Amino acid sequence: MGFTTKVLHTKPNKNDAYGALRFPIYANAAFEFASAEDIEAAFKGTKPAHAYSRSSNPTVENFEKTILNVTGGIACIGFSSGMGAISACLLALCKSGDEIVSSNKLFGTTYSLFTDTFAEYGIVVKCVDFNSIDDVRNAITNKTRAIFFETITNPQIEIYAIDELVALANSYAIPLVADTTATPPYMFDAKLHGIHISVLSSTKFISGGGTAIGGLLIDNGLYDWKHHANFSEEAKKFGAFSFIRKLRLLTYRNLGACMSVQAAQSFSLGLETMELRIDRACANAQKVAEFLEQHSKVQQVRYAGLERNIYNERAQRFFTYPGSIICFELSSKQNCFTLINAVQVIRRATNLHDNKTLIIHPSSTIYSEFSLEKQTEIGVNDTMIRLSVGIENCEDIIADLSLALSNL
Ligand SMILES: *Cc1c(COP(=O)(O)O)cnc(C)c1O
Repeated sequence: MGFTTKVLHTKPNKNDAYGALRFPIYANAAFEFASAEDIEAAFKGTKPAHAYSRSSNPTVENFEKTILNVTGGIACIGFSSGMGAISACLLALCKSGDEIVSSNKLFGTTYSLFTDTFAEYGIVVKCVDFNSIDDVRNAITNKTRAIFFETITNPQIEIYAIDELVALANSYAIPLVADTTATPPYMFDAKLHGIHISVLSSTKFISGGGTAIGGLLIDNGLYDWKHHANFSEEAKKFGAFSFIRKLRLLTYRNLGACMSVQAAQSFSLGLETMELRIDRACANAQKVAEFLEQHSKVQQVRYAGLERNIYNERAQRFFTYPGSIICFELSSKQNCFTLINAVQVIRRATNLHDNKTLIIHPSSTIYSEFSLEKQTEIGVNDTMIRLSVGIENCEDIIADLSLALSNL
């Protein structure tokens, strides 16, 4: 079965009492048990059942189950945000004194999580250039507990040699964690490509309409936990489920960043049309990138769908599409602001993969907490504009940009 058929026809764990065709929203905190023995069994985990919605809930579980059906992972957990998924994932993998090797091109908040928050708790994140596999290898020590990267970085729009990263992680027996927000299931088969754990923001492509904040963690079941210093004991008993068990019973429950039932329902609906929306958004992005590339006022266009782009071959090899984010440069920061103020269809907002096309100047917004020097180090500069191409009729996006560019 194809992606959307699977999404539409994933069977719930229990049939609804009234035969509701859409799985209902269970908007309740607690679940009732028939006996003291049953509630004891639920708490011990000998007879799994929903007890309290911070740990699990049927509506969220139904969404998680649908994600597993399309990804082939062994376990999935829904979070209150993408950041919730990333932080819980890495806190479950690491103890104080442990190290993470990460790409130095990161979503701004992830970068701050690593360099501000984790640093305060003694988790050392070594941020290196993942364009060089040697740099990644040289950063690994016997304290490295995870390797982390994003499948398509933004606003740099870099795509790393995922096959080589997987081979490296496997040769050192270190779990490879990929933030797949830019390439959700359907655009990238993380399990097929050997990614151990995927984390992603469901706020973006899955939601589509920007209807809710949420995140997902998917364990693809490919990592052997007996090799991990923090899981070798658990692995003897729980094997492939060692990591997910710790998350569900401890880290996820204790941190409390659970997905809300309303968000889960909105993501379940979003997932049903995601394939259609991605087809449209990525076809639009390709045409918009080609338009920008030939425009005299535009200095440089970063989009892996362009033949001249250095990541073009990797984009074709790993992903269904090279994504829907385009970054381009103008001759000055003032020109960037003039263009952003001139667009009439495109919206000035920070989200990504919304149905609407969104425009932003990353340097003065998302990365404004970083000095210009730091920005240069992480590949951001003040002449750069980021466009998240939506599903409008493409000619309207291009006409809007064309008119706005004529003001420069
Ligand atoms: C948006 C985003 C996040 C964070 O997700 P939230 O749902 O906003 O917490 C993490 N990584 C990437 C690549 C993102 O685009």
